[in-house]
Amino acid sequence: MVEIRLTNTRTRKKEVFEPLDPRNVRLYLCGPTVYDRAHLGNARPVLVFDVLVRLLRHVYGADHVTYVRNFTDVDDKINARAAATGRTIREITEETVAWYHQDMDALGAARPDHEPRATEYIVQMVAMIETLIANGNAYEAEGHVLFDVRSFPEYGRLSGRSVDDMIAGARVEVAPFKRDPMDFVLWKPSDADQPGWDSPWGRGRPGWHIECSAMSAALLGPSFDIHGGGIDLQFPHHENEVAQSCCAHPEAGFANVWLHNEMLQVEGKKMSKSLGNFFTVRDLLDKGVPGEVIRFVMLRTHYRKPMDWTEAKANEAQTILSNWHEMVVGIEPATKPAKEVVSALADDLNTSVAIAALHELAKAGDAPRLLTSARLLGLLLPGDYGWAAKRPSDEEILSRVKRLAEVWFGLRAVKDYQAADRLREQLLDASVQLSAGRDGPARFDFLTPTSSDWAKEIVVKLDAIESRWLL
Ligand SMILES: [Zn+2]
Repeated sequence: MVEIRLTNTRTRKKEVFEPLDPRNVRLYLCGPTVYDRAHLGNARPVLVFDVLVRLLRHVYGADHVTYVRNFTDVDDKINARAAATGRTIREITEETVAWYHQDMDALGAARPDHEPRATEYIVQMVAMIETLIANGNAYEAEGHVLFDVRSFPEYGRLSGRSVDDMIAGARVEVAPFKRDPMDFVLWKPSDADQPGWDSPWGRGRPGWHIECSAMSAALLGPSFDIHGGGIDLQFPHHENEVAQSCCAHPEAGFANVWLHNEMLQVEGKKMSKSLGNFFTVRDLLDKGVPGEVIRFVMLRTHYRKPMDWTEAKANEAQTILSNWHEMVVGIEPATKPAKEVVSALADDLNTSVAIAALHELAKAGDAPRLLTSARLLGLLLPGDYGWAAKRPSDEEILSRVKRLAEVWFGLRAVKDYQAADRLREQLLDASVQLSAGRDGPARFDFLTPTSSDWAKEIVVKLDAIESRWLL
C-alpha cells in the first residue's frame, strides 16, 4: 500500500496518514457561504481536496472514501444581499448553489459524496448546543448562547495561541453579556424579518461555527480523518469547531488531521476589489480560459505555499495542456498511473512535483501513462474538458455562430438590449462581429482569417458563450 504523508496543522508535523478505518476514509471541507459567485481563491481548497480525494480513492478504493463539503445557507451576508436586492433568501441561495456547481464542475472538481446545507441540520445544531450547555461549556445570555472558551483548556492549540494573546491581538466583538471577550456565538436571536427557528432559547439562528461541528458529526461521526480549508479559516473558525466538537463529544477526537492551504494572489498582489484585480472563477471561464487551465495553474504550486495567479502562467498552461491533449487523442489509458506521480502526491500532495513528472512522461512520448497519471490530478479527464483536442470543421463553427446570432437577434426582438449587447461583446471577443438590418436577420462576420489555431481558439470561446446563452 502507498504510504501517504500529510502536514498536519494540529501537530505541525508531516505525518504518515493512518485512517481511523481504511474501509471508510472520511474528510470534511468547509464549503462556501452562498450569496455570490466563488472567487478564484475559493477554488483553491476545492482543487486541493479534489486531488486528495482522488489520491485516497486510488489508494483505499473508490468506495472507501467519504467526502463532505457543506453549503452555509444561513448567514447575515445572505440576509443583507436579500434585503439589498428585494429577493428572497431561498432564491439567492438556490441560484448561488447552482452557480457554484457549474463553476466547480468546470474545474473538473468531482462533487462530494454529501453536500449538506446548514438549514437542513438545525435540529442537530440545537441538540449539540444543549449538550454543550449541559456539559458546562456554554451559557445562555440575553437570547444568545455563547461558548465559554475558558471551559476548554486546549482552546487556541490548533492555531497556536493562548486565549490571552488572542484577546490582546484580535478584533473581538465585545458584548456586555459575554463572560469573556473571546466567547463566541452558538445561537443568536432573530428579528421577525430574519430567518429563524424555534429553540429552547427562543426563535433564533445558529452561529457559523456550530454548523460544521454538527454536520460533520452527523455525516462522518464525532471522529474522522481529515478536515480542511484555507489557512484563513484556521482561526477562529476551525479553532471554534475543535472546541465545540471536542466538548460535545469528549470521548471522540474530532478531526485527526487538519490540512490548510495558503492564500492566492494575482500578479503578485493580494486579490481585492479595491485593487481592481478581483475576479471570480466565472469571469475567467467567460473570458475563454478553460477550467482545466485554471486547475493546472493552481496545482502547479504546492498547497502550503502562496499561489500567484498570472496571465503568463495561464497562457503557458494552455500551451502545455493543448500539446498533451493532442498526444492522448485516441490513446487507451495505461492500467496504472506512473509511480513518480503517485509518490509525489503521496508526499504531502506535492502537485508541482507530480506535474513535473507528467512533463517527463510527455517528453518520453508515453501517452498511455501520461493519460492515466494526469487523471489522478483531475487533468485530461474523459469527455468533459476536451477543449484543446477539438479540431472543428468550418461548417461546425459556422453553424454554432449562426445559432448564437439567432439568439442575439431574438434578444433584440424582445428589446432586451442589455443582454443582446453583452452577447455581442462576448462574440466580438471571439472575433465574430454581429450586425442587423432594420428587419432583416442577424448577420455575422469573422474578423480574423481562419487558421487551425484560430479554429481551436474560437471553439474554446464558443463553448463558454454557449454554456451561458444556450441553456
Ligand atoms: Zn467549517
